[in-house]
Amino acid sequence: MIIDSHSHLKHGDAKGTEYSAEAIVKIMDAVGIDKSVVFAMSTTTDRSIKMAKEAVDRFPDRLIPYVYALPSYESVVLDRIDEAVSQLGFRGIKIHAGECTLAEYVIDPVIELAGKLGVPCLIDCLGRYDPIERMAEKFRQAKIIVAHFGRYLCREESLIDRFIRLAEEHNNVYLDASGVIIVNKIREAADRLGSGRVIFGIDGPHEEPDTITFARNELDKIRALNLNPRDESAILGGNIADLLEI
Ligand SMILES: [Zn+2]
Repeated sequence: MIIDSHSHLKHGDAKGTEYSAEAIVKIMDAVGIDKSVVFAMSTTTDRSIKMAKEAVDRFPDRLIPYVYALPSYESVVLDRIDEAVSQLGFRGIKIHAGECTLAEYVIDPVIELAGKLGVPCLIDCLGRYDPIERMAEKFRQAKIIVAHFGRYLCREESLIDRFIRLAEEHNNVYLDASGVIIVNKIREAADRLGSGRVIFGIDGPHEEPDTITFARNELDKIRALNLNPRDESAILGGNIADLLEI
């Protein structure tokens, strides 16, 4: 089973681009993806729950919802996250350092809750290594998926290496291969960590060159690594299926 672990109902771009559940499933069908994790960002936690729930209600067998965590002193959102996971069937939590501080007094209660609820946090940390290391150390029970191996479209090998090393040292750290352009780092991570903690994601939809080609390119990127079939299938779906217990 092929599972895209990272798909946006609403993006973090300046326009806050939105995609319907239908549009996402159409791409999945065209490329051969069985299931996709979906979430919205650049919105409130409440609206992210509403958007993902509506999408999953339309395609319950294809889409898997994550709740977007946007905690602050204004709104702690822990009760909303708890309710989404415990009562509405949400399977994970999305966090983005572009919109939410990773300062421990704001984000740590969310990570702690994720550990208690047994759901992973997909975190785009914008290359900020230290907070991810702190969370991984402090909350061993929490499963942390580091988006893009640390930073989107990162060309700095030494930074990617730090995140791979962190995952080597902490078995609660997973690496999301979307937006990784130094592709041999994906193979290196699979070699060093074992394939069990490298996870395929598209981070789409994206219009360049078009949504279907973009998704296919991300999938081909993993296939072109020519891993042994068992490792490839773990990365393309098995690992996230285990994490999400699906
Ligand atoms: Zn993303």
